[in-house]
Amino acid sequence: MARDPVCGMEVAEGREAEKLDRSGRTFYFCSVGCAKAFARDPGRYTSPSP
Ligand SMILES: [Zn+2]
Repeated sequence: MARDPVCGMEVAEGREAEKLDRSGRTFYFCSVGCAKAFARDPGRYTSPSP
């Protein structure tokens, strides 16, 4: 299970509406709208790794 970084919804890999690779990580999205919001401003949704 992956988490949509935009809305926080859990998205099952393979059932995502959209996925994007950023900085070597794959992000899964519940909808194309969330993926677009992420693509527009990825830094807003990717918190720095602990
Ligand atoms: Zn979403």
